[in-house]
Amino acid sequence: MSDHSTALASLAAAAPAAALIDIGINLAHESFDADRDAVIVRARDAGVVQMVVTGSTLASSMRAIALAREHPRTLFATAGVHPHHATELTGARLTELEELARQPEVVAVGECGLDYFRNLSPHPAQQQAFHAQLELARRIAKPVFLHQRDAHGDFTAILREHAAVWHGVAHCFTGSAAELQCYLELGLAIGITGWICDERRGTHLAALMPQIPPARLLLETDGPYLLPRDLKPRPASRRNEPAYLPQVARAVARARAEPLETLARSSTAAARALFQLPVA
Ligand SMILES: [Zn+2]
Repeated sequence: MSDHSTALASLAAAAPAAALIDIGINLAHESFDADRDAVIVRARDAGVVQMVVTGSTLASSMRAIALAREHPRTLFATAGVHPHHATELTGARLTELEELARQPEVVAVGECGLDYFRNLSPHPAQQQAFHAQLELARRIAKPVFLHQRDAHGDFTAILREHAAVWHGVAHCFTGSAAELQCYLELGLAIGITGWICDERRGTHLAALMPQIPPARLLLETDGPYLLPRDLKPRPASRRNEPAYLPQVARAVARARAEPLETLARSSTAAARALFQLPVA
């Protein structure tokens, strides 16, 4: 074996064992304006072969769709209104959202849900926008990309009003064992972020990882937010990006006591099944 092929072999050993999919990246966010293409290249170099770009307002959903059009088969979009922006979703705006959500690049409705932690929109407005988006998802037969914080009771009550079994993902799950069981019973997939890499607040989450069936476990960065705390060296910008998804995958695989390759295969298959993604 020549020196050259030895170097290639060690590079291959350092590369991720299998393709990963980032199911929640806010790539339309302005923090990526200066170097978005480089971010996508770095993601692919790190083994992140496909990404679902989160829409959280009408404007960011439009930007997410535009990005997906520029990068077919690699980027996909969600279209929805985050509970922070629930007051934006008036009647006319709902028609606009439906047009966006029907675009072929859009693989889910959301992010939608309830956020009683920051309460940036009043609760009745949040609930109304959530109902409207669940009805929209049903109408266009696409899954939902769900956000919930400090609102578990109302959130699950509304989901139960709309369907017996849900086709969607509870993104950025950080809840308790009881909340996890409830989501699994509702039929939801579970999105895990770099929250699990946080030694101060992610420990309880690691303990829950073995309870999630492999076909329901999805991985996401939620970048530019939630930079994994155990990343070394930590980027000076503190910005999270899809290239750091393997750090999340390693923490989840460790918590499940399974090889990284096993988790990568199952979570990638689960993401493709939920969002109907083509093989990259
Ligand atoms: Zn969210």
